[in-house]
Amino acid sequence: MTIPAHPRRWFGLFCLLVVAFSVGGCSPTATPSTAIVTDADESATITPHPRPPVVATGLPPTTPPPEATAPPTATDLPTIAPSPLPTASLTPSPTPDRNIPCSSRIPDNGLLTVVTLTYGLSRDYEPAGLVGLSGYLPNDVTLGYPTELRRVAVTPLVKMITDMQAAGLQPRVLSGYRSFSAQAIARQKWLEKEPDRANILSAPPGFSEHQLGTVIDFGSPELAEIVGQEDIEFHTWFYKTSEGRWLLDNAHKYGFTLSYPFEAFEITGFFYEPWHYRYVGVEMATQLHEEGISLTEHQLATEPPPCIPDSP
Ligand SMILES: [Zn+2]
Repeated sequence: MTIPAHPRRWFGLFCLLVVAFSVGGCSPTATPSTAIVTDADESATITPHPRPPVVATGLPPTTPPPEATAPPTATDLPTIAPSPLPTASLTPSPTPDRNIPCSSRIPDNGLLTVVTLTYGLSRDYEPAGLVGLSGYLPNDVTLGYPTELRRVAVTPLVKMITDMQAAGLQPRVLSGYRSFSAQAIARQKWLEKEPDRANILSAPPGFSEHQLGTVIDFGSPELAEIVGQEDIEFHTWFYKTSEGRWLLDNAHKYGFTLSYPFEAFEITGFFYEPWHYRYVGVEMATQLHEEGISLTEHQLATEPPPCIPDSP
């Protein structure tokens, strides 16, 4: 394979490799306190696509219940000593306090959480309300990937993709939610392959916007021809595709915003990712579109830092 010399092309290559490692697309950022959409939206009614879902839930396959047997007699029962009740909840509570290490930060369910290479998330953070997109979008959009997204973003996403298809476009959904551990796997693969450039090409676990569950990486069937590589899925030249241009002009109308614009590297710490969109609600997305800035830039300019960065 020819290795592109330009760093952005490196990034495209990285993203491709990430997909090859079966953890989904690429990239990261965001924090709340003035969320426009709240938990109530998670219960919004969504009409699923009529196909049977093929969603990876992270749960083991369902197994049939064991054969019914006679209940054990008292003498069969093992002696179990009473144990003290657990004192800690299994589900971490949100940490609205900004005076905590970022590595302990559990954001609430708002949509404006800042995540950058400076302001990370707790490894224990997993967003609520994740649903598989396979039940809502056809295979020619999901490409069979078991992509998950927070429920609050699913209806706007389906509406946007439906409108794109009505306009003759063929959007692909290449990546969505990525857990801390999934990000760690992707990161490790890249550290092994290109240790000197891993910091540029991938986000360490805990520093990816994908952990928020409101981020989508889009693809386009035009990309392969534009780049000249048949199996390419992520490349900076996504902005040249019909789907990329449409998203740049219209995604805000559905509540999605481009997290890493071309000119925002100094603020976000990430190279241009024209395929990486994040759901923030129509009001905020429209405001950002009109001002021509990223959510990260807006939040860091209008709010105090979300947490105390951990020592390197
Ligand atoms: Zn991404």
